[in-house]
Amino acid sequence: MAVISQPISLEFFPPRDIAAQERLIRSAKQLAAVQPSYVSVTFGAGGSTRSGTEDTVRIMHRLGFPAAPHLSCVGATRETLGEILQSYRELGIRRIVALRGDTPSGMGRHNGELNHAIDLVRFIREKTGDWFHIEVAAYPEMHPEADSASRDLEHFVEKVKAGADAAITQYFFNPDAYFDFVDRVRVQGLDIPIVPGIMPITNQTQLLRFSQMCGADVPRWLRLRLAEYGEDKAAIRAFGIEVIVRMCKTLLAGGAPGLHFYTLNNADVTLEILKALQQD
Ligand code: FAD
Repeated sequence: MAVISQPISLEFFPPRDIAAQERLIRSAKQLAAVQPSYVSVTFGAGGSTRSGTEDTVRIMHRLGFPAAPHLSCVGATRETLGEILQSYRELGIRRIVALRGDTPSGMGRHNGELNHAIDLVRFIREKTGDWFHIEVAAYPEMHPEADSASRDLEHFVEKVKAGADAAITQYFFNPDAYFDFVDRVRVQGLDIPIVPGIMPITNQTQLLRFSQMCGADVPRWLRLRLAEYGEDKAAIRAFGIEVIVRMCKTLLAGGAPGLHFYTLNNADVTLEILKALQQD
């Protein structure tokens, strides 16, 4: 089904065991129906899922999806990063999501040779020229470690100028934060696509915990509505779909160049959201 006219991309994470791998493959096959322009596979902090990411990328590649591995530089050496890039080139991978990553607990902040995503973007361009289409991360509600919104924007602009082709945002529930961020990037003279990252709402506790960590604002009205549903998972799911569909419509109507879904390796909710968008 061609769902919306703008491209859709999907994000998966490396499964922990064989059963989870089978579930992931089932989900990916179901999601093939939405014809994603690519699927991305996350990378564990400090390289903890390096092989998991590579194996999952190979699975996605075999299933026929254009696959985009995430690669983070925190704690990694140039040598290791070079090897990883080479193995993706050999596999025919043409898109990569370049990140700093988060420092695993117990590790110093600057244990690697590259300290920020900009260093990784430069390294990829240095090593592989224009082979990879490079996606970077963007934070409409500001990266949690940034000193100020304007410093964060400066860093983002520098990262893009270092050689990124496009950006995927951290998830958010305030479309105005996205529109404001895009406007501020445009004022800096950059016209790269900035694709909103969409997080389905299915589990209140998990969502609040994760949002706290990554700096995504869960608006008061949304928290209060979710709290009222308590443990009623079906009600949260139905309400969550309604909220996200409405937000996706606002984003697309406001010019978002596509949607990137954090699928959490689960096809059902993403499919329902896309089905509702298609009905319009
Ligand atoms: P950067 O762009 O380096 O920014 C990090 C912080 O440093 C910001 O506060 C920025 O303002 C600041 N900064 C940047 N450059 C400089 C500079 N030159 N000097 C001083 N300060 C600077 N994490 C994973 O571990 N694995 C994943 O697969 C993964 N996938 C993600 C996918 C998306 C779409 C997003 C949005 C995030 C993802 N993350 C992932 C999380 C990400 O790694 C963290 O948010 C991390 O804290 C920052 O990564 P970054 O690439 O945005 O870093």
